[in-house]
Amino acid sequence: MSEVWQAHLEKELAQLEREGNFRSLHPVEEAQQPVLIRGGRRLVNLSSNNYLGLAGHPDVIQAAQTAARRGAGSTASRLITGDDEAVESLERRLADWKGTEAAMVFGSGYMANVGILSALLGREDMVFSDWLNHASIIDGIRLSRAACHRYRHRDLDHLEAGLKRAVQQGKRRLLIVTDSVFSMDGDTAPLQDLVFLKEKYGAALMVDEAHGSGVFGPRGEGLAASLGLSDRIDLQMGTFSKAFGVYGAYAAGRETWIRYLVNKCRSFIFTTALPPAVIGSIHAALDHVIRGTELRQSLNEKAKRFREGLQQQGWDTSGSETQIVPIVIGGSREASAFSRYLEERGILGVAIRPPTVPEGTSRIRFSLMATHREEDLEQVINLLKEARISWEVGRFA
Ligand code: PMP
Repeated sequence: MSEVWQAHLEKELAQLEREGNFRSLHPVEEAQQPVLIRGGRRLVNLSSNNYLGLAGHPDVIQAAQTAARRGAGSTASRLITGDDEAVESLERRLADWKGTEAAMVFGSGYMANVGILSALLGREDMVFSDWLNHASIIDGIRLSRAACHRYRHRDLDHLEAGLKRAVQQGKRRLLIVTDSVFSMDGDTAPLQDLVFLKEKYGAALMVDEAHGSGVFGPRGEGLAASLGLSDRIDLQMGTFSKAFGVYGAYAAGRETWIRYLVNKCRSFIFTTALPPAVIGSIHAALDHVIRGTELRQSLNEKAKRFREGLQQQGWDTSGSETQIVPIVIGGSREASAFSRYLEERGILGVAIRPPTVPEGTSRIRFSLMATHREEDLEQVINLLKEARISWEVGRFA
């Protein structure tokens, strides 16, 4: 055992403890349900990404069981023997759903972003990335070695200044990349303006619909589709791990873009294809997403009621306008303490701390589900009111 390494790792962990940013695992039972069980206690689950409740839907589970009869694993990467008819037909269905020429499936959203950005961009290119984009986008940009202008959150002037400079500098190709729904704030990207700017400066635009897929659009296609912008966005990606309730991810766009990625994207080429059970579940979840108008309506209504309830009480819900409703607390220790306070009272609201969010903006990130019971949500709203006005407010807010 290397003593040098042991000492280094322990020092780093102690530092995280001191900052209040140490992470540990907390097993739960029935995570797929709007009320889950942890340590034998029932908790209203306000921390999952299972927005439509599909992770626990009998059809989606049944589809996995049926598909698993064909085999447990996919046996190789897509380009070797992992390209079965079920994944091929899923990609055709995805392109049809998104209204794009083509689509492809990835192992996960993280793998998609890291692989796509590093495949598209090189040293001579410049990428423009919203300050609050997901970590997988940041990592993909790092891996690409392209020059990066991280523009202030949703700040179009700051973005445009960077675009102008890049054109003056004669950068080879420009790419703007943004989350459609920001994962820790629940606000949305100004997609209409981003399309305008990308067209003005001859850039491409990639949109991460991780939290928009299944939730927005007439057939759950995402925020871009709900704004009628799909045709003007070069590449859309999204995950099956959130509203779809499964696992894996997709990219959708022009046929040339997808064919390029099949040839160049290392996180697509050098990894085993998703197993049949997962592909089977995604097919079933897609059926529900397409026909999910009522689920979406229920989710959006519940989120609105919840957000407005918290805002009336004076909580800082950041820019939330979606099913993701944070309350910004500030310090990491305070956010963790508030999360424990909630858990003691039957609510699971996980504290989100740096580096996931910027220093000093630790928060509880609530996320709503279409399948939450209204009574449970009302109870949570009432409890948060008590927390706000009772002596606890001094400790947490
Ligand atoms: N993009 C965004 C905006 C996300 O929030 C996430 C998941 N947290 C991902 C990508 C990664 O997706 P996955 O969980 O499927 O790896």
